[in-house]
Amino acid sequence: MSNTRVKVTIRCNRCGEKFTLRGRKERGRVDTGFKQCLCNNAADFEIEEES
Ligand SMILES: [Zn+2]
Repeated sequence: MSNTRVKVTIRCNRCGEKFTLRGRKERGRVDTGFKQCLCNNAADFEIEEES
């Protein structure tokens, strides 16, 4: 299996809210299940991976 668990920090570029989630990295893409911010922003984020 090539799935790797990663901790991801997502910061909303609209309201500045930060979310720390645990995701799974699959083929270079991180899947956290994160849908949208509290301010309804669903596209404008800064995503940072931590190992
Ligand atoms: Zn937001």
